[in-house]
Amino acid sequence: MPNEISTEQIKRVLCSGCTTHCGLLVKIKDGQIVSIKGDPSDPLTRGHICEKGMAAPKLLYHRERLKYPLKRTGERGEGKWTRISWKQAIDEIAKKIEEIKRKYGPEAIALIHGSSPRYAEYIQRRFMNLLGSPNVFSSASQVCWDNTAIIECITYGWMAYGDIEHTQCIVEWGSNPACSHLPRWRSILKAKKRGAKLIVIDPRLTKTAAKADIWLQIRPGTDCALALGWLNVIINEELYDKDFVKNWTIGFEKLKERVQEYPPEKVSEITHIPAEKIRESARIYATTKPAIISWGVSLDHIGKNASQAIRARAILRAITGNLDVRGGEILCGLHPRIISETEIEENEKLSKEQKEKLLGTKRFKLLSWNLYDQINKYAKKVGYRAAIPSYSLVNAHTPTVWRAIITGEPYPVKAVICQDSNPLLTCANTKLVYRAIKELELFVVHDIFMTPTAMLADYALPAVTWLERSHMDHGVAGNYVKTGEKVIEPMWECRTDFDFLRELGIKLGQEWPWKNLEELYEYRLKPLGYSWKDFVTKIRWDVPPFEYKRYEKRGFATPSGKVEIYSTILEKLGYDPLPKYEEPAESPISASEKSKKHSLVLITGGRLKCFHHSEGRQIDMLRKIHPEPLVQIHPKTAEKLGIKDGDWVWIETHLGKIKQKTKVDPGVPLNIVHAEHGWWFPEKPGEEPTLYGLWESNINVIIDDNPDKCDPMIGS
Ligand code: SF4
Repeated sequence: MPNEISTEQIKRVLCSGCTTHCGLLVKIKDGQIVSIKGDPSDPLTRGHICEKGMAAPKLLYHRERLKYPLKRTGERGEGKWTRISWKQAIDEIAKKIEEIKRKYGPEAIALIHGSSPRYAEYIQRRFMNLLGSPNVFSSASQVCWDNTAIIECITYGWMAYGDIEHTQCIVEWGSNPACSHLPRWRSILKAKKRGAKLIVIDPRLTKTAAKADIWLQIRPGTDCALALGWLNVIINEELYDKDFVKNWTIGFEKLKERVQEYPPEKVSEITHIPAEKIRESARIYATTKPAIISWGVSLDHIGKNASQAIRARAILRAITGNLDVRGGEILCGLHPRIISETEIEENEKLSKEQKEKLLGTKRFKLLSWNLYDQINKYAKKVGYRAAIPSYSLVNAHTPTVWRAIITGEPYPVKAVICQDSNPLLTCANTKLVYRAIKELELFVVHDIFMTPTAMLADYALPAVTWLERSHMDHGVAGNYVKTGEKVIEPMWECRTDFDFLRELGIKLGQEWPWKNLEELYEYRLKPLGYSWKDFVTKIRWDVPPFEYKRYEKRGFATPSGKVEIYSTILEKLGYDPLPKYEEPAESPISASEKSKKHSLVLITGGRLKCFHHSEGRQIDMLRKIHPEPLVQIHPKTAEKLGIKDGDWVWIETHLGKIKQKTKVDPGVPLNIVHAEHGWWFPEKPGEEPTLYGLWESNINVIIDDNPDKCDPMIGS
């Protein structure tokens, strides 16, 4: 017998363990991964790799992965399954979808996705558009990205992308890149070395805040007041860019009048930041040129006042002259030459009548397709290739979808396809989400593991990890394109998002011209003149240089062609066209009598370096780093309550209680506790009632999603 020849290969991949998409180099020997490291040639992440990326082989070869399609045989949540073929799964799911569509209309079928970058949301959107349903939603939509994208589009036509490499002042507004975005953190440290200033706004003394030149310890949810306070200082002290304001904005005088309501002393009372610090930080931001305010999800999260806070942040960028300048915030549009995700979505295939049925759009008017179509029109008018993909701007209102499933109002929703999402962990108000899922006639989950959510499915279908899938990361705010090879073929019977939706779509009579992801990517890259194989193995990324001040030639992609400080779109929709502060819905000042009996303010959502939201809890290597859910409590508060570091404590709101382990930490304010999100325990029994410890430490069990307390424009 001849000696076996050992083969070794390096695959150039894009990590999709989080949305950073680091370029990595994976060595395979005899078909097995033997090493994984950062790729220094990645122009954006420059060799970075974190523990999640390092742990990817553990994810790939994990013994608990879903390996074959499963069909429920017992009651929902009983954990009784039978293995079936993909063909049977597709046939039966398609049959049920057709039946529901006939009986209730296509809008009765919804699709929920997570924030995982493994999955391409434009593919899901295409599937739903061709099905005729507007109801795509996610745990993230209205609390992560969508509201920023919508507000920035109506204010200056695109989403600003910070040119961090050339900036002199960085404002991290409620974000902690030292934990959530390490390549950006490295750029910040580099910028600081060259003398750039760092301002951090955060209730907690995070690792990022600890390095700040100024840390503003803000009272949670009062960000809009702070932004208006900054605007007050910048306008009254004439620190704004007068030429830009005169030539490229509308509504400045009205704003000037509005901000007189927010002198630093009053803002100090609201935010608990000393007035002098408000003045000092506003002056630094306005006079250190160029400056950026990084995007982070904190403002998207704050609920009732989210949209106005995001508006105020956008206006700050504009009036200080930081839009579209080197080292400022670039409105670059999509990559100008590759076929965009927007074009693949085929949004025009969804009829006007169906678009109007998008759940939540009647109440939260900025979620409408009508607005998206306007944004698209203005984007094209100023020469962008297309608008930001619809998946980033127009999604069903998540709390409204769950309520529609339960009540049948405004119309019935009977089926949900859930791709790479764990809404029992990641959507607020877990008890309500649980009730809704139990009501469904069809619930299909496509995921890597059996999760608490998958345990309630009728069909649990095995999904690939990012190592078993080719990737193309097409910047939405940035204009780059990055690609990564598939490392190995899908294991067992796992399938990509594309393969599952394409096959189901074809069964339902849809048109999918590309046989696989690689064919789709090849089609999209065609205008650049490369085959997929050549691009992914030899070229890998294309990052066109920024075009600064493109508005001087074409104007801004807004109705007036200028930055709309006074928003004509908001005015037409009946909303306040200027930013205005409102107290958070559940603060010590505004809370209901029921909530007021609780003595502490609860915040959540701070990122952990080793987990992407609810993922990774079954990876030993990551659990060793962070074994248990932690709640941060100030030492004096802990002492007053008789709590010691390491004690398990109950955290209670009007919705119930959960427990987490105490981390006594002087970095949180006295009356505030911060609890971690995304916690479940894959090592516990999966069947009801345990559902992998769903009810024990999951913060969303006690977080409200009442639409009456949401932001009135977008429903955050
Ligand atoms: S998980 Fe880590 S290595 Fe992977 S993309 Fe995110 S930051 Fe980069």
